[in-house]
Amino acid sequence: VALVDKAPFPRDKACGDLIGPRGVQVLDELGIDVGGERVGDMEVIGPTGRRVLLRAFPGLTYPGFGLAVPRRRFDALLHAAALEAGAVGFTGRADEPCFDARGQLTGFRLAGGDAHGVQLRAGAVVGADGALSRVGQVAGLVDERRVLWGFAIRAYLDNVPTVPQILFWEPTAWEGYPGYGWLFPGTDGVANLGIGVGVQGDRRAGTRPARDLDRFASDLQQRGLLGSAPRPEMSRRLGGWLKMGMVGTRPEGGRTLLVGDAAGLVNSLQGEGISQALGSARAAAWALLSTGPGGPGGRYRNHLKRTYAPYASTTTPLTAAMLAHPRLVAVAGRLLTAPGLGRLLSGGWAVYWNDLLEGSAPGWPQRTAVVAHRLGALATSRTPARRAIALSLLDGSGDAEFGQSLLPDRRPTPLH
Ligand SMILES: Cc1cc2nc3c(=O)[nH]c(=O)nc-3n(C[C@H](O)[C@H](O)[C@H](O)COP(=O)(O)OP(=O)(O)OC[C@H]3O[C@@H](n4cnc5c(N)ncnc54)[C@H](O)[C@@H]3O)c2cc1C
Repeated sequence: VALVDKAPFPRDKACGDLIGPRGVQVLDELGIDVGGERVGDMEVIGPTGRRVLLRAFPGLTYPGFGLAVPRRRFDALLHAAALEAGAVGFTGRADEPCFDARGQLTGFRLAGGDAHGVQLRAGAVVGADGALSRVGQVAGLVDERRVLWGFAIRAYLDNVPTVPQILFWEPTAWEGYPGYGWLFPGTDGVANLGIGVGVQGDRRAGTRPARDLDRFASDLQQRGLLGSAPRPEMSRRLGGWLKMGMVGTRPEGGRTLLVGDAAGLVNSLQGEGISQALGSARAAAWALLSTGPGGPGGRYRNHLKRTYAPYASTTTPLTAAMLAHPRLVAVAGRLLTAPGLGRLLSGGWAVYWNDLLEGSAPGWPQRTAVVAHRLGALATSRTPARRAIALSLLDGSGDAEFGQSLLPDRRPTPLH
């Protein structure tokens, strides 16, 4: 296995640095210890300043906590673990693609870095190269106009909140921000502050968080959320794209498999993508190493169909509707953080928006999440986004059914 990255490790990466429970589970199963701080409950602060606590519940197939680990450290540890397991590292940008006689992508000539000029050809290419995936682009797997993009920017500051906070920010009253802000505790007394937006098709609107970060931080400062210093001292600002909700990308083409952001697996409701990147990468390896019907592409696609599509097919259309209606975002932010209602829904909300329904433990949060999912599936059943996801997962037999079941007692497909 050749492990190619344009950056030498350790390197920084724009992120909130929070690994969700499903990602923690994958790391545990792979025996990779990344350290970090445990993060459990999360506080949501609505546009009017009202707060709701989202409790972290352990599921049957994931723990009741996430981990805060700076990406500079986390990604270097993952990279080192892959090399230790036998992969051979190459530092260089996948540049000029190589194709076989049938037009299938077989590798790249690398540019820049230690491996400049090296040509790598392989039996299969896994595109784990992020939202703007070169692999996806040259393999013809991406339709940019249909992609649900996100852009987010983060900075570090010295103030550490005790619980992670999500903020439904409203720079103009009753005009909901097309995304949200966060303030997460980190390691070594450093907090991660950031803001992100969703953008449909036209990526130019993605510049907004970079313009808004200072104003957002000042607003939090004025509301007493950033401690007592007169001005928030932010360092190491870094922004990046997210590709969300499984629309606009076909995740495989023959022996080319896209994983993580390259496949557009980011949760469009809350921007989480590390768990999906880890889970899909493991599934891609399994699809390549196992034998049986469907070939690697078919096996991988079926895994995505079962694991991520039921959630994305409901939440992507919902996100698209919210982006088109800022007033709806404002109303939803107020309702979800209203006293009484917010508390009543918080358990199911914590499960559903973190895509933790499958494998969740029985109880009120699970029941609320099931109702939310069923209502969402019903409301979005005829939307173009749902059809687009089905199309991108279509197999040779025309079977694009991923259903609306997402039943809580269904176990993830065993990978071993
Ligand atoms: C500001 C921000 C905050 C976020 N916060 C969170 C969070 O708190 N929790 C969470 O779960 N998710 C978060 N996300 C999403 C998360 O960062 C991604 O979902 C996750 O990093 C996806 O992992 P990946 O391996 O698919 O892609 P990436 O992490 O983007 O890795 C892609 C790799 O490919 C390399 N690469 C790219 N192009 C080439 C090329 N041509 N040749 C060679 N190498 C190449 C890059 O150097 C990089 O190392 C956030 C995203 C942003 C932008």
